[in-house]
Amino acid sequence: KEEALRRDHRRLGTDLNLFSIEDEAGAGLVFWHPRGARMRLLIEDFWRSAHFADGYELLYTPHVADISLWKTSGHLDFYAESMFGPMQVDERQYQLKPMNCPFHVLTYASTLRSYRELPIRWAELGTVYRYERPGVMHGLMRVRGFTQDDAHVFCLPEQIGDEILRILDLTETILSTFDFKTYEINLSTRPEKSIGDDAVWDLATQGLIEALDRKGWAYKVDEGGGAFYGPKIDLKIEDAIGRMWQCSTIQLDFNLPERFNLEYVAADGSRQRPIMIHRAIFGSLERFFGIMTENYAGDFPFWLAAEQVRLLPVTDEVRPYAEGLLAQLKAAGVRAAIDHSGDRLGKLIRNGEQQKIPVLAVIGAQEAENGTLSLRSRRDGDLGAVAIETLLAAASQANRERAPGLDLAASQPA
Ligand code: ZN
Repeated sequence: KEEALRRDHRRLGTDLNLFSIEDEAGAGLVFWHPRGARMRLLIEDFWRSAHFADGYELLYTPHVADISLWKTSGHLDFYAESMFGPMQVDERQYQLKPMNCPFHVLTYASTLRSYRELPIRWAELGTVYRYERPGVMHGLMRVRGFTQDDAHVFCLPEQIGDEILRILDLTETILSTFDFKTYEINLSTRPEKSIGDDAVWDLATQGLIEALDRKGWAYKVDEGGGAFYGPKIDLKIEDAIGRMWQCSTIQLDFNLPERFNLEYVAADGSRQRPIMIHRAIFGSLERFFGIMTENYAGDFPFWLAAEQVRLLPVTDEVRPYAEGLLAQLKAAGVRAAIDHSGDRLGKLIRNGEQQKIPVLAVIGAQEAENGTLSLRSRRDGDLGAVAIETLLAAASQANRERAPGLDLAASQPA
């Protein structure tokens, strides 16, 4: 319990100046401060590059849609209570999106698709709004506005197994980069009340099982626990103190393609329904950020830290030298800053440690004379005096490899 308190992301969010919830703007709405925003950007950049590498294209879709879209999608029938109310613009009524799915569906339907185009994999960091009761909101974990790392795959029935396996692989790649390596997996099958015919349900459920088996992941079966419109896989991650968090879901959907009359032209020229897969890996970026912050207890890996290196000039005389180093670090893409407070060295170090800066670089007269910096790493302790070129090489390598810390030995400049 004490450990959970020490790791509370709300406290760390304030202490490390990452984000805030501003009541003046409304409840459950997140403000990302520069440090939090920088980290979020790094997460998003990684997420995007991983998706492009895995054959996805990215979409941007609107935040609002005409109320008729939410009728067609069924959201007004089964999700209205979680939606922000309508707003009148000209002659039409609009509602904020609680999900991105109908937008991706409309994009699919914008042109006639051939079986040759499938699978289509589309991802979006889509910001959605959902009504939550006042009592249940909690830091970043439960909010009213958040960004899903959403994706939809449209595929042929026989592609289900391969596509699910691909999603499991990508999920592992992304989650393990944030040191989440233990998962608990649930497979939910067809409930009593459901739509779609038996053959499709069997094929889809078999596809999920086959993919999990090929991946070699153990799972529990929640018999009849699926949604009325398709079976799904849920994945929980375990954090550093043994708590499990539900993040990723892979959901098959026989409903939306039906409602929007989605089609593709099959090899024999007939019109067929594509299979639609919804999936999110982080779930919500905000919530994942909260979980990750608690997992690391605010001690973020080097590659993810908003401020990676802090230069600590001990005297005014060495400030020009420190400025020169700062420029070099920035030019190399290293996130660095100088502590200009003029405090004594002990205080400079204490401040850097309190703010959990991964690397502190002490710069005194001797360092300035020798063209070095004396490094103190949060992870690895005192690293001694190194040449700026060594730090530049090690930091660039750590950023490239998304490493938790510096590897100075492997980064001696040529
Ligand atoms: Zn969806």
